[in-house]
Amino acid sequence: MKKIALLGATGSIGSNTVDVVKAYPELFQIDSLTFHSNVEAGADLIEQLNPRYVGVGSEDIKEILASRFPAVEFGVGEIGLVQAATLDSVDVVLTAVTGSVGLAPTMAAIEAGKDIALANKETLVMAGQWVMEAAAKHKVQILPVDSEHSAIYQCLEGQPKENLKELMITASGGSFRDLSREDLKKVTLEQALKHPNWSMGKKITIDSSTMMNKGLEVIEAHWLFGVDYDKIKVVLHKESIVHSMIVLTDGAYLAQLGPSDMREPIQYALTYPKRLPIKNEKAFDLTQISQLNFEVMDFERFPMLRLAFEVGRKGGAYPTVYNAANEIAATAFIEGKISYLQIEHFVQRAVNEYNETTEVTLEEVIAIDKKTRTIIERWIKEEGHL
Ligand code: NAD
Ligand code: MG
Repeated sequence: MKKIALLGATGSIGSNTVDVVKAYPELFQIDSLTFHSNVEAGADLIEQLNPRYVGVGSEDIKEILASRFPAVEFGVGEIGLVQAATLDSVDVVLTAVTGSVGLAPTMAAIEAGKDIALANKETLVMAGQWVMEAAAKHKVQILPVDSEHSAIYQCLEGQPKENLKELMITASGGSFRDLSREDLKKVTLEQALKHPNWSMGKKITIDSSTMMNKGLEVIEAHWLFGVDYDKIKVVLHKESIVHSMIVLTDGAYLAQLGPSDMREPIQYALTYPKRLPIKNEKAFDLTQISQLNFEVMDFERFPMLRLAFEVGRKGGAYPTVYNAANEIAATAFIEGKISYLQIEHFVQRAVNEYNETTEVTLEEVIAIDKKTRTIIERWIKEEGHL
């Protein structure tokens, strides 16, 4: 029986994880879970899963639920996340919260010796160096849940590192892949939220359309697999059937293919190295798909992808600034405070204006993350308009 802490249980990855867990009740148990604000969805999960510990977003929610579920222990905010992630009984922490709020519980879980099934890519972008160092020190596994990284992880299995020539990450192109930069001036939130292939949370859907998501994934891959940016390639693949590939020194390509179903990488991260059937799996027939297309990524059309390589190569806290600026700007777009192209504008400006020394400590990175957020919030107040 694998005991799981599920951080971000009410979200899109959270719900897919609950599906996986419920399909194999003899193998998985949710010992703790967290959610931010959706009380009804949270209460429903507590009823279904019977966790021992629940982390919530506010004291008010804790009060409402504590009287309804007297046997459950509740915690609030960062403390709630950290306690859920470090519960003695927990074996693996599935990090499905959105944003850099995932860093503290992930670090605490690693220090407590828990394996990590990582969906929360922002944590690795913000502080990859320290997360990977801590994982090595405490001998814990970081198993990717992001579909591209799960694909690469699967392709790399059994390959000596010297065999690897490059990683090739596929990108669907997001909601606006067929629009020109001129067209982007007029797009709405509703249009941005219509992803062609995947059903996901709002922030990652916006990030997919700006190509920030792919940028975050490039940096995530750099840390997860210890591969130089020169050896990470991104290719536009509109069908999202090839989840990613590796290229070997002799020119062989290994790819992992499958339907757009996040239960696959989630379940693999939880059963690794075993494989089990996916209950009620999605229909998948390559003869029905019949064509797979691959195109060059246009860095002029998607400047946030170019910027990811730039901040990644600069290192230090550059990726932290890139990520923090985007978290605030993408959220402001979702809340109707800024226009679509202002997301890129604020991220680019934040990176341009950051020019501190690249040698930073984890404490400094956390401070830079906070400071960047405050700066972007100020810019949004000054310049934000629709
Ligand atoms: P979501 O918005 O659907 O869910 C986010 C979850 O995090 C919710 O349970 C919410 O309650 C919680 N949360 C949000 N803000 C919080 C805060 N400040 N404090 C504590 N909890 C908070 O998001 P999602 O689409 O499930 O994505 C979650 C993570 O997984 C992201 O990092 C995303 O990049 C990554 N990811 C998602 C997918 C996908 O298919 N959805 C695929 C790959 C990677
Ligand atoms: Mg992905």
